[in-house]
Amino acid sequence: MNEPTDFGPDRPVLLRGGTVLPMDDGHSVLPRTDVLVVGDRIAEVGPDLPAPDGAVVVDATDGIVMPGMIDTHRHMWQTAMRGYGADWTLTQYFVWYYLEYGKLWRPEDVHAGNLLAAIEAIDAGVTTVVDWSHGLRTVDHADAAVDALQAVPGRFVLAYGNIQAPPAEWTGAPEFRDFVRRRITGDDMLGFQIAFDVTGDPAFPEKPAFEVARDLGVPVTTHAGVWGATSDDGIRLMYENGFMTPETVYVHAASLSADSYHRIAATGGSISVSTESEQSAGQGYPPTWAIRAHDIPVSLSMDTSVWWSGDLFSAMRTTLGADRSREHMEAHATGETVTHCSLRADQVVDWATRGGARAIGRTDDLGSIEAGKKADIVLIKNDASPVSFPLLNPYGHVAFQAQRGDVHTVLVNGRVVKHEHRLVGVDLAAARREVERTVEYLRSTLGEEAWQKGMNPDIPETKILDNPYTYTDYHSAATHSR
Ligand SMILES: [Zn+2]
Repeated sequence: MNEPTDFGPDRPVLLRGGTVLPMDDGHSVLPRTDVLVVGDRIAEVGPDLPAPDGAVVVDATDGIVMPGMIDTHRHMWQTAMRGYGADWTLTQYFVWYYLEYGKLWRPEDVHAGNLLAAIEAIDAGVTTVVDWSHGLRTVDHADAAVDALQAVPGRFVLAYGNIQAPPAEWTGAPEFRDFVRRRITGDDMLGFQIAFDVTGDPAFPEKPAFEVARDLGVPVTTHAGVWGATSDDGIRLMYENGFMTPETVYVHAASLSADSYHRIAATGGSISVSTESEQSAGQGYPPTWAIRAHDIPVSLSMDTSVWWSGDLFSAMRTTLGADRSREHMEAHATGETVTHCSLRADQVVDWATRGGARAIGRTDDLGSIEAGKKADIVLIKNDASPVSFPLLNPYGHVAFQAQRGDVHTVLVNGRVVKHEHRLVGVDLAAARREVERTVEYLRSTLGEEAWQKGMNPDIPETKILDNPYTYTDYHSAATHSR
């Protein structure tokens, strides 16, 4: 058994001989290429780089080296309830979290969910996550959220939200501004956004919250185009009041008209597509097939682990599938055949990396592998897996073949946080203990009946159609034929 590698803070790291996807404009593939990391930056990319003294050399042969993935919308606090809502619709989610039980979350429960979600992210090669943290009932909850994010060596953006009060109220509270002053200090490992939704009420009650964001100079992220919840009216109000900016992130945008897409495109914002969520929960059809025609920048997200795992491989895979599925369907409806797919594998890899960097305003230093950029890097390599070869089409391999178990090594800000498939410097057992306490608290507070009922919603009756062919009695037919 190998001794654990010592990843001292000052040791350079050389990823040797991998297939590098630098995520440049041409979506290049660089075979047998080295990536040298010194400090928090990528120092050099090229063939046969000399290893500096004391460097940790990672053999990337037969592997794919790509930028760390960026998830632009994940409700990390909900990871403490992993998988509980697997059979929910959006309506059931709203009832459970917004109306009934979200208010039970204590600061330590937010901490537990965030801690587990943060570890899960870096393990899966998701080096930056926007924590769409809309369970922050009090500033103590927000402090707990940040404490957890800062306990894990990933890069995060706290998108501060609170579904239990109107956005104008909590963004206007002095303790909110005090929190921003105390905790958001310009450290590039912790960004900040304000997260709230626009109901479409003509009185535009969200206006003061937008003004706070503008005053603080921070972006707004908003669930837009969510069937039954947010619509074109919210987009129009934002537009008419001058709050649609290039920094604004529109989550889902799955049930908007072309008019709203035009407004988003014209003001330079981006859309965070959560395909698995949109497919199951019902916000609308995953919109990439429509927004491609508007040339709106796209990033990918997982939304919440109360349904789905926080793994951007499945986001890329389902986004390709949903887009192509819709393209075929639209064509078949007019008797046509799609002979060439519009959405390509390299494009979803781009959305999972550069698209995320674009959405969070970090194109200068994240989302691609080139000298001078921050070293957020993933090595996909799994010599024991029959899926690891042949490696013919690296972008296709990432999008359709690879999975989180193939994430071999992860660097965040130049620091090795996963090596040879094992997390480095992360206390998973502590996260388990915290999550167990939270689950026990919630389960006992709800009571067993409500707990089970929440997890197992009623199934609508399936009406079996009348079948004109059922006049044959199968059993007697079988008997007669003997
Ligand atoms: Zn969401």
